[in-house]
Amino acid sequence: MDFDLNESQKILQSSLKKFCDSKIRPAAEEIDRKDEFPEWVWPSISELGLMGITIPEEFGGAGAEVLSAVVVMEELSKVCPALSLSWMAHSLLCAHNLFMHANPAQRKKYLPDLCSGKKLGALGLTEPGSGSDAVSIKTTAKKKGDRYLLNGTKTFITNGPVADVIVLYAKTDKDAGAKGITAFIIEKGFKGFSTGKRIEKMGHRGSPTGELILEDCEVPAENVLVGENQGITVMMDGLDVERTVIAAGGIGCTQAALDYCIQYAREREQFGKPIGSFQFIQGKIADMYAQLEAARLLVYKAAVIAGGSERGGRGTEINRLAAAAALLSGELSEQAGLQAIQIFGGYGYTLEYPVNRILRDAKLYTIGAGTSEVRRIIIARELLKI
Ligand SMILES: Cc1cc2nc3c(=O)[nH]c(=O)nc-3n(C[C@H](O)[C@H](O)[C@H](O)COP(=O)(O)OP(=O)(O)OC[C@H]3O[C@@H](n4cnc5c(N)ncnc54)[C@H](O)[C@@H]3O)c2cc1C
Repeated sequence: MDFDLNESQKILQSSLKKFCDSKIRPAAEEIDRKDEFPEWVWPSISELGLMGITIPEEFGGAGAEVLSAVVVMEELSKVCPALSLSWMAHSLLCAHNLFMHANPAQRKKYLPDLCSGKKLGALGLTEPGSGSDAVSIKTTAKKKGDRYLLNGTKTFITNGPVADVIVLYAKTDKDAGAKGITAFIIEKGFKGFSTGKRIEKMGHRGSPTGELILEDCEVPAENVLVGENQGITVMMDGLDVERTVIAAGGIGCTQAALDYCIQYAREREQFGKPIGSFQFIQGKIADMYAQLEAARLLVYKAAVIAGGSERGGRGTEINRLAAAAALLSGELSEQAGLQAIQIFGGYGYTLEYPVNRILRDAKLYTIGAGTSEVRRIIIARELLKI
């Protein structure tokens, strides 16, 4: 087994590290405080060629593997998880999903602008009454001539307040459960589409989250992805890649916590010694390191398998692996955030030091793209087959 990244992934990682340290790190605290990205952020990310990382070059993408997307997610999350979340919603939840399921005309129409960053993407699944139970969505789509009329409200949509293109799920047959869902490509200019409330969050501040409102929203029939009532395929394929990439967010956050803790434990002195010389502190740092190394390997393995075939990896193995990767890294990052605050003592509890932000950001990784509980259900269901 080869545990190393390949040459192009290593180059991507080191150039991104430099970019994040020089450009993003100095702005990260302000992004969190103001809850908004400065104007230069998206053009800079686009210039690096990250907006269509997994999309073939013929559509303007970088043609890289899911593992490269994981590398990007990890590096961005070390410095600014809000940016990595918005980047992921654009490039994976929207662009990658679109590429995987769109027909040639849809690919040609939408992918180049998404890959160049001219347009920002999002994914609209969650509704006020339907989160973990995604199949119970209430948004309806009724065919009328050459278009569909969509009605409903989506909530918690990353990039929702600013997105130009949205992969959005609605029920075309409300009595058919999972088999009655259709995936649509929505443009923000479509008649009947508007954005609702922007949601203020405890973490990932800067990444805009909000409601989408569909009131007889007119969507051309040619904007159906795959086919009517085939949305569950899009949703399930997308979720495995989404969980794998979001798992890398937890890895990045944990690495940041570990790096801050090592530095602080060397510098902070109590009882005439650096606190890093106390075994209680050493134990926390050693555990964080050991668990991080294990979780990273699982996330990379899931990424290799998720990228292994055009439609979401090897059979059902990827379902449990992606869920396990997200479960492990999400809970690890939450624990790492808590332990980092403990190691920083009273200073960790203040807004002066960055570790409070790590905890607030990390908490999302046990909720978004399926909660820890749902991830455990998926893993157990796959193993027990009952
Ligand atoms: C910052 C942020 C960004 C997001 N971005 C997007 C996005 O871009 N697009 C999108 O569509 N959605 C997005 N979401 C929504 C996210 O996917 C949902 O929040 C998540 O799936 C959980 O749904 P819920 O919040 O409705 O919680 P609920 O489903 O109501 O769950 C509440 C609690 O009940 C538990 N629970 C639910 N069902 C079960 C069960 N069967 N067994 C045991 N426990 C259970 C859950 O684990 C949780 O602890 C985002 C959410 C956040 C917070």
